[in-house]
Amino acid sequence: MKKISILGSTGSIGTQALEVIKQHPDQFKVIALSAHRNIRLLIEQIKEFHPDTVCISDTALSEDIKNNLGKMCNDVLYGREGLLELAGRDNVDILLNGLVGSAGMEPTINAVTSGIDVALSNKESLVLAGGVITQLQKKNNVNIFPVDSEHSAIWQCLKGEKPEQVKRLILTGSGGPFRNRPTDTFSSVTVEEALRHPNWNMGSKITIDSATMMNKGLEVIEASWLFEIQVKNIDIVIHPQSIIHSMVEFSDGSVKAQLGYPDMKIPIQYSLTYPDHAAVSWEQFDLAAIGQLTFEQPNFQKFPCIKLAYHAMEAGGSYPVVLNVANDMAVDAFLRNSISFTEIPQLIEKAMEAHSSVGEPDVDEIKELMSWTYHFMNSKLKG
Ligand code: MG
Repeated sequence: MKKISILGSTGSIGTQALEVIKQHPDQFKVIALSAHRNIRLLIEQIKEFHPDTVCISDTALSEDIKNNLGKMCNDVLYGREGLLELAGRDNVDILLNGLVGSAGMEPTINAVTSGIDVALSNKESLVLAGGVITQLQKKNNVNIFPVDSEHSAIWQCLKGEKPEQVKRLILTGSGGPFRNRPTDTFSSVTVEEALRHPNWNMGSKITIDSATMMNKGLEVIEASWLFEIQVKNIDIVIHPQSIIHSMVEFSDGSVKAQLGYPDMKIPIQYSLTYPDHAAVSWEQFDLAAIGQLTFEQPNFQKFPCIKLAYHAMEAGGSYPVVLNVANDMAVDAFLRNSISFTEIPQLIEKAMEAHSSVGEPDVDEIKELMSWTYHFMNSKLKG
């Protein structure tokens, strides 16, 4: 039986992971759950999955819930410190990191430092600290199992293949809700429109990232670290049906693809059951019913965030850190109606240009860069 802890258990990835676990009660034991502030749902999850430990990371709620949760679970942790402690505990086989944004980085580092395999949904961990994490991973002999559907696809396509025979990775992207929307109307995009993703049901941060296509850019960086391949050998193709989740081209021109319905439960499950494909009762895949798969070039002019992400990874060092934190904050500001949709890439570009670059930053330097970007963005968002 695999022992699992889930960070972000009340979020989109966390709740779907628990649905997967529920399908295989003989295979998994939930050891720990963490939520930010959705106590009501966390309580339901405690009743159903009986974790040994729970953590509420929003300190503002600590006092309110101490008594409540304390009655249901012996071991209750609080705040950011609690979350970081939980992430570093080595009493589990896999830690699923389903946290959103930059906040997910340190928990990933703590798990990898403790020698725990990580099912990684938080792509920002690798965007911010790919160098640090992959070094620790090798040193501590730790696996990172991708949860992101594109990376799960590539991981499956690479099974049994020789790394030196891989020519390029081809990441597919749906193109998001604005693929066919004229660029000159982008400044009037509303939050509601941006939150309406055509294919995938996801949390709000990643859904906005899909609308700007920054998500695809972050995924290029994530793939570069996960599969040790330069970004110049990672291409993007727009595939509106989201049936092919990504592809690998080999040196002889042969291309492998992984297909399936766009349902995050499939890659989540594989990250937990690897190397096995466990039987499930989900809808059977039907290509004839899908009918048609289409492809087109990504439009870098229309979606400048993709270009920014490639540029950040090519420049390396501190650039992806600034890109990622600036994006987190710009998306948050857009969701609060403080900035327009087109200001998201503009602000990110400004932050990247304004920072003093650092090559191969260590954890402390990454944290300094994160806080610099936070202050820079705050001054722009207020001004
Ligand atoms: Mg993805």
